[in-house]
Amino acid sequence: MRAARWHARRDVRVEEVPDPVPAAGEVLVRVELCGICGTDVEEYRGGPLAIDVDRPHPLTGTRVPLALGHEVVGVIAGHGPGTDATRLPVGTRVIPDVVLGCGTCWWCRRHQEGVCARQAVRGLNLDGGLAEYMVADAATCVPVPDHVPPRLAVLAEPAAVAVRALRKAGDVTGGTALVLGAGAIGLLLTRVAVAAGIQVVTSETADFRRAAARHAGAVAVRPEETAAAIDRLTEGRGADVVFECTGLPALLPEAIRHCRARGTVVIVGFSGRDAAVPLADVVLKEKRLVGTAAHLWDEDVTAGVRLLASGVIDPALVPVRVASLDEVPALLAVPDQGVVKVAIDPRGQEEV
Ligand SMILES: [Zn+2]
Ligand SMILES: [Zn+2]
Repeated sequence: MRAARWHARRDVRVEEVPDPVPAAGEVLVRVELCGICGTDVEEYRGGPLAIDVDRPHPLTGTRVPLALGHEVVGVIAGHGPGTDATRLPVGTRVIPDVVLGCGTCWWCRRHQEGVCARQAVRGLNLDGGLAEYMVADAATCVPVPDHVPPRLAVLAEPAAVAVRALRKAGDVTGGTALVLGAGAIGLLLTRVAVAAGIQVVTSETADFRRAAARHAGAVAVRPEETAAAIDRLTEGRGADVVFECTGLPALLPEAIRHCRARGTVVIVGFSGRDAAVPLADVVLKEKRLVGTAAHLWDEDVTAGVRLLASGVIDPALVPVRVASLDEVPALLAVPDQGVVKVAIDPRGQEEV
């Protein structure tokens, strides 16, 4: 099969590799679409960040070269020896899990694989979905209803990130949220927050992303208009919750400033760099700073798929441009600036 594999910084090759073989408890997934994420771009431009170069990953035994890609939708194409084929028959459309825990540590025993010290992330520590096929743990694959097409289902992973981020804010029903950045996750967060009865202001520099945020139900503003919009909607108190989705360290102090006293700032975007925190504002105004990382397959990915299936997240919310595997290196070098999400069709057969 063909795969787009990370070899080194600025060296991702589309190449022929052996088909993966599912082990016991695993399934073979034929990839329909795999979204390209900021994480993939960061690994291309500045990696290795999370990719294992010098030694194999302790959990998966994987090291470079490896296939990137964690925003995967595909169909079951085979089962490993002893894998129960009745739950996920061949042809079932699924979202494979992204975050794998060791299964034995204190956190994993409490189903908190996201903070497992030995965790492995698909497309970084084991082969991902920028390939014609991949293998996945059968038990954590989330089935997708037939009426959800690949172009929509490919948003399940970022939708799961949005679902988890919203949950971190606590109950904000009837309140006001500020979303900083209207990339795929910012837009999905905007929509799920609006659907949860929250008034949302989304701040974004790019015109086409602001238009998308408006479609998602937000009051869409330029960064310089943000303070005035929040003041107007909250009588000067500040937003009940601020979701920082840009990952730009310089925006964190601003996110904290836009948050009301005793409100919550959820840090969703993360570039790996440290940020300055205006401590007086946090301490004296009793603001909460909360992190959120990826998602869990059952509580978050399942919820994301439900939002896609029910129409809360519709195909027009995050327009997807479909590209071929051969375009991956160029798309990582110069991400497409005119669209919110690019998804790769590894076999050139995606039908919408
Ligand atoms: Zn991602
Ligand atoms: Zn663990």
